[in-house]
Amino acid sequence: MGSAVYLDYNASAPIRPEAAAALSEALGLTGNASSVHGFGRALRQRIESAREAVAALAGAAPADVIFTSGGTEANNLALRGDWERVLVSAGEHDSVLQAAPEAVRIPLGPDGVLRLDRLAEELATGGGRTLASVMLANNETGVIQPIRRVAELVHEAGALLHCDAVQAAGKIPVDMAALGADLLSLSAHKLGGPQGVGALVVREGIDLPALLRGGGQERRRRAGTENAAAIAGFGVAADAALEELDRAAGLAALRDALEARVRALAPETRIFGAEAPRLANTSCITMPGVGAETQVMALDLAGVAVSAGSACSSGKVTVSHVLQAMGAAPEEAATAIRVSFGWGSVPADVDRFIAAWSELYRRAGRGRSAA
Ligand code: PLP
Repeated sequence: MGSAVYLDYNASAPIRPEAAAALSEALGLTGNASSVHGFGRALRQRIESAREAVAALAGAAPADVIFTSGGTEANNLALRGDWERVLVSAGEHDSVLQAAPEAVRIPLGPDGVLRLDRLAEELATGGGRTLASVMLANNETGVIQPIRRVAELVHEAGALLHCDAVQAAGKIPVDMAALGADLLSLSAHKLGGPQGVGALVVREGIDLPALLRGGGQERRRRAGTENAAAIAGFGVAADAALEELDRAAGLAALRDALEARVRALAPETRIFGAEAPRLANTSCITMPGVGAETQVMALDLAGVAVSAGSACSSGKVTVSHVLQAMGAAPEEAATAIRVSFGWGSVPADVDRFIAAWSELYRRAGRGRSAA
């Protein structure tokens, strides 16, 4: 797929060359970061400098960063604490929803933004050790939640706030203190780092039971020998992502051009979340009457890689809970695909996408192909 266009950064961004170099350099080192000898100290140094970089990306203190095996583990670690009550937004990632199956779900509005009135109502009904979990940006639509306001409501009620910033980090500024989040999840592979590594940032003073118990790594908050090479790659990717935040914001030009051209070809298209603040890189668009799986396959054949708006696991396609939470009928949600740009995207990618999309639309008997 050398010449294929990759427009699926929200699934996983290509690894940045500098992150791959750091990963590979650290893979060549011998030892265990917990050992006191020179071999161990060399690995420890890689981990601690990555901790500083990741903390800087999140506007947090290095000591607050717990490295994990990814965003999923970070979310599980946060949600599976000894909470008496958990509230989640209905648009959370499955790694939040399934980590807290008993959680109260706060609905979204049709624009994809959390219903703050419903959150406030729910917060008013109970006490106890309560955790609210609201993502900063949605993986399917890119919709950005008003986390600062959410944090105010949550804290006024004496509860704590977990924020899944996996999709937001590296795309918009993430400042944990300014946002008011008490716990914050990150994942390296969404911002150009390696897969299988992430972090939960835990504000000082919050006591969170470890999910993995054993050795004393990560200040006893996550046992197990650290994946030092992946963590080193994460650190370098975090540095690069922070430095390139302006470029990430500039991806709006590509996204807007793509959406304008899709709308010109197919005025009946729906773009989910377009009325709300959104990540600059993400577009969730329908091709009326054509199933997302068909679109993804046809686009793939044409050398354009995107995702279905619906999740496909073990061969079974489920219609997106996020789009349904925004009021989409299952039949409409089933025609949505997600296009997501990133650090390697260029304007010609939009041309390739539009050529393939318009051809499919024409073949589906719906329009003319793009000139
Ligand atoms: N949270 C969000 C919003 C995501 O988009 C993802 C990945 O798709 C995750 C969490 C899980 O992250 P990871 O793939 O690192 O487990």
